[in-house]
Amino acid sequence: MRKKFASLAAAALLSVSMLAGCTSVPKFETEAEGAQRPILIQGPMPIEAEKFAERLDKVKIEKSGTFVFYKGKLDKYPVIVAKTGKGMENTAAATAIAIEKYNPAAIINQGTSGGHDPSLNVFDIVLGERTTNIGSLKTGHLEQGEGIEPMGWIPMDLMASEGSAGEDPNAETIRYYEGDKEILAAAKAVKDKYTKGKVVEGTIGSADVWNNEVDRINWFHEKYETSVEEMEGAAAAQISKAYNVPFLGIRVLSNNKTNGGAYNPNTAEANQDYVYEVVKQYITDMKNKK
Ligand code: SAH
Repeated sequence: MRKKFASLAAAALLSVSMLAGCTSVPKFETEAEGAQRPILIQGPMPIEAEKFAERLDKVKIEKSGTFVFYKGKLDKYPVIVAKTGKGMENTAAATAIAIEKYNPAAIINQGTSGGHDPSLNVFDIVLGERTTNIGSLKTGHLEQGEGIEPMGWIPMDLMASEGSAGEDPNAETIRYYEGDKEILAAAKAVKDKYTKGKVVEGTIGSADVWNNEVDRINWFHEKYETSVEEMEGAAAAQISKAYNVPFLGIRVLSNNKTNGGAYNPNTAEANQDYVYEVVKQYITDMKNKK
């Protein structure tokens, strides 16, 4: 075993010297060490990331810009908690940086959300079977003095083509990012460990918007089939897909305007406790697959 490792390392060194100056060199080193690819857990606000980070072993903190990465271990497996900051831009950048720096095997974006489905209550959790951007919209054509008609706005898929999204009729569709089947299976397997509410599968909608107009919330719920809204998931899903990294959004309802559910910040910690169980299960599943 040791010998095999030594020869592998020697081979890697050889490729390193042959490829000196090439950007893929660090990858060779990682493979030679047989390094395990970490699982990345993202949380936007301190209350949505720090509880999880506290539960990791041997934590080392690294920063990049305003993004904080807590690198540690869970059941001896590498797990990184990222405090991304709020919103789509922070999340997209923090996701790309983490992928380039840490080469994660999977990404879970988690935190609080607002309910779009009146059958979901504060403390219920939505597993993002699908995640979609609900801020990417094209308005109708109205002339000066004709006002604004948000109900007529149509989805705009920025990933549809490399041409003009404003002109391309193929771009007038809703883009859904599918949640990874294996992370979803791990999440479903530990549903019963969560006792503060129910755990359901659904659609997560994201935008840098906090909707408090119930008719507008209902419009999204009907048109996009959203279960909840938040400000990060679709950004992380889009970048994960760009790099082909398995992704799942997991969101607890901290508020639900459609049924009078008042904001409760304690939901953030409850969600992290559940996601901790999901990650443990996912690590077990990965080890069993080998
Ligand atoms: N500063 C604002 C809060 C915006 S940040 C205020 O005080 O009103 C909201 C954070 O909580 C985001 O990270 C988002 O993902 C999440 N969130 C929770 N409920 C939300 C909702 N109903 N709409 C949008 N984002 C919500």
